[in-house]
Amino acid sequence: MVADYLQDVGKYPVLPKVQPGEVASMLPGMAPRQGESLDRILDDYARIIEPNVTHWNHPGFLGYFSITGSGPGILGEALSAALNVNAMLWRTSPAATELEERVCDWLRQMLGLPEIFRGHINDTASVSTMLALAAARHAQPDLDIRELGLAGRPEIPELVVYISDQAHSSCDKAVMTLGLGLRQVRRIVSDEQFRMRLDSLAEAVEADRRAGRRPMAVVATAGTTSTTSVDPMDRIAELCQREGLWLHVDAAYAGSAAICPELRGQFSGWERADSIVFNPHKWLFTPIDCSVLLMRDVDTLKSAFSLVPDYLKTDEEGVTNLMDLGVQLGRRFRSLKLWMVIRAFGVEGLQDRIREHCRMARDLVSLIDQDPDFAVVAPVPFSVVCFRWIAGDSPEQQDSLNEVLLNEVNAQGPVFVTSTVLKGRYTLHLAIGNLKTTEQHIQEAWQIVRTTADRLST
Ligand SMILES: *Cc1c(COP(=O)(O)O)cnc(C)c1O
Repeated sequence: MVADYLQDVGKYPVLPKVQPGEVASMLPGMAPRQGESLDRILDDYARIIEPNVTHWNHPGFLGYFSITGSGPGILGEALSAALNVNAMLWRTSPAATELEERVCDWLRQMLGLPEIFRGHINDTASVSTMLALAAARHAQPDLDIRELGLAGRPEIPELVVYISDQAHSSCDKAVMTLGLGLRQVRRIVSDEQFRMRLDSLAEAVEADRRAGRRPMAVVATAGTTSTTSVDPMDRIAELCQREGLWLHVDAAYAGSAAICPELRGQFSGWERADSIVFNPHKWLFTPIDCSVLLMRDVDTLKSAFSLVPDYLKTDEEGVTNLMDLGVQLGRRFRSLKLWMVIRAFGVEGLQDRIREHCRMARDLVSLIDQDPDFAVVAPVPFSVVCFRWIAGDSPEQQDSLNEVLLNEVNAQGPVFVTSTVLKGRYTLHLAIGNLKTTEQHIQEAWQIVRTTADRLST
């Protein structure tokens, strides 16, 4: 069934033709009293479930960040379910712990990062970023928030986190979760190429200091969610060093590109970060979920979170107990699928695929550039193209025409594209990241967009 699905997924429309509540109405309201045969269950899977998911593994899935659950990764998932280990302690699964450390170190080398970084795997970038900012909070020498908390302590200044106006909402959520308060997030304006402006960052830090607040951390984004722009990490790192701020780099999507030496220049400065997150489940062909958090000083994270109850005490010395590195106790064996992906493709195989996706994005840019009715509206450093239909008599009309265009394109089935808003204007966002997406799919997508626009303008 898995092999058939992977072979034939392209025959489905990317978005299922299903209304809210329709799937639920096909499911019994109560669990079966007696066990049912697997045949029956799988029949229902084929009838109710498979046709009614959005097909992320479809070569025409070009929305958000396009991803791939590759064959080796799927096998890794299946094997880890078979083993069903809980990698909370070294003792509860030596191989899961040591493979995770080894594979994260392979990745560190592939990304060209210094030896000091230690990686471990979380479910998502949102959680990795929350942990990184918790470490940043713990690193405030005098506050002892771990022990004393934040509430009821008037002596504690507001702790401020700086992100760009293009940064991911997970940064805000991390601040909310950590009890720092959304008001302590400074959204620094970005420049015409959607990169955080350093002068504005410096001014904001200065203004906060003057007002008696305490600047705590900067989250620089390498590959923003809308346009994949990269903040100037070299200069941000300098500022952080000068000001004593924690630097967290959110490279959830674009981090994978750093395995290609010719693309790595764009990441210059991230080697000076305190923490870096990147998601192999986004652009490294590993099934969701898999997010790697690399820490310069993993002991800060550990001292923020380590809490060992009697029933979890073990004797081994000098081993990693993954439960010490975050909130969760139980932990899936995620490194197995990542190991299988890296080995099956090889570093060069992974580099080739990333390059190919970037090349297809550049080709699409040339197609759009040749069309007077369309415009690429942001630089394309990786494999995401933001563009707009130049139509209508006013910006507002252009916005609504682009929205109609997108809905009409997606209703046809073979491709799925999403939208974003750039400088207040509705924008189409096309992401290339699935292993089965070829030039033909991109040309077809462009044809669909083009002919739909023609149809709408007559
Ligand atoms: C996708 C993305 C995230 C969130 O990733 P999750 O793993 O879904 O939490 C965070 N930051 C950036 C830049 C992203 O592209």
